[in-house]
Amino acid sequence: MTDLLQSWVDSANSATTEFPLNNLPYGVFSTSDQDPRCGVAIGDMIFDCHLAEVTGLLSVSDFPLFDAPHWNEVMEEGPTLWAALRDRLTEILGQGSEDEASARGMLVPRAQAQMHMPFMVAEFTDFYANRNHAENVGTLFRGPQNPLPPNWLHIPIGYNARAGSLVESGTDVQRPWGQVKRPDDTAPRFAPSKRFDFELELGAIVGTASDGPVTVDQAQEMIFGYVLLNDWSARDIQAWEYQPLGPFQGKATATTISPWIVTRAALEPFACKTPDRDVPLLLHLQDTGPMLYDINVSVGLRPQGKGETIITTTNYNSMYYSAAQQLAHHSTAGGPMATGDLLGSGTISGVDKTECGSLLELSWNGTVPLVLETGETRTFIEDGDQITLRGQAFGEGYTVGFGECSGTVLPALKDPFAKGH
Ligand code: MN
Repeated sequence: MTDLLQSWVDSANSATTEFPLNNLPYGVFSTSDQDPRCGVAIGDMIFDCHLAEVTGLLSVSDFPLFDAPHWNEVMEEGPTLWAALRDRLTEILGQGSEDEASARGMLVPRAQAQMHMPFMVAEFTDFYANRNHAENVGTLFRGPQNPLPPNWLHIPIGYNARAGSLVESGTDVQRPWGQVKRPDDTAPRFAPSKRFDFELELGAIVGTASDGPVTVDQAQEMIFGYVLLNDWSARDIQAWEYQPLGPFQGKATATTISPWIVTRAALEPFACKTPDRDVPLLLHLQDTGPMLYDINVSVGLRPQGKGETIITTTNYNSMYYSAAQQLAHHSTAGGPMATGDLLGSGTISGVDKTECGSLLELSWNGTVPLVLETGETRTFIEDGDQITLRGQAFGEGYTVGFGECSGTVLPALKDPFAKGH
């Protein structure tokens, strides 16, 4: 495993910063005097890639890569350019760099920057690929005899979600209305969700496009990087609508992602295997190498105006299917995969009931309230609660982090069909 790489940006040289030279995650930022543009996080600073390209300091292609406020143009170029860009940024920002004098003027303090969506989302698919989560939800919804659907150990189950629902960290989320039928209801009714929840996930971002089926190895090469992803879920709406076609309006309110794309290259030192299989996968989905990552992930809940409680901590290495297997499976029907496609991992839950990635599981369907550090209890999200996802991989003396993926839940509208709001 590599050590902490040294940078001339002092704040990048600590064991605890999420953005050492080993990371170099890609984002889109703006400042009070300048529009959104591409940048790389380094310690407490952001290196302005657009400015570096305009001035000729950063030149890894014959055409501009950073003249638009998103990373899609870099993403579609593929692994050779991705590696060249990472090498050049490492050179510019590394200790002893010849470019230090000019690059110093291209740094912006992260504290002064506003972050935006880092890429244009083409299509969004969400999976259900963590066995602990699937067994918990199956037990809660269908009973403990047969918690896994019969196909679960053979294919990564997913559904086509709404790309338009994606929002950047910091965006407020309004509690949705929907059709629900609660246990004591004799008929369905239209009401604000009372069981609004988060889902702790990683999102894999497709860099290069495909046309037709791809192997697991090819799929792995297509993946540009990862973000934290909160798949906001209205459990009461979901419970009424999901049979037989799966989630729909219960998942269509919003999906929040973290602002920094952590590249596959930065995560490579933390690669690990998927778990042993009860039944072998068919050949086209079999593992060809370690394609999961050892990433500690957690969720904090902060009631309005109060302190935060970390309500769960678990690890992405507990997934049953890797993003590469999900992407390979997704491609088998022949349809194209596009630059900017986003694949939600599925809720990440550990074996222990305190390591679950949703309130549905943590509160065991609302029957076991969580006690917060403020003394309050929660079964599902209440108005004003801020939910924050975090993710960190730990190397020898360094940390590769994702930054925060945060959103606050606002009260439902009084009348969702009223004009003028
Ligand atoms: Mn989900």
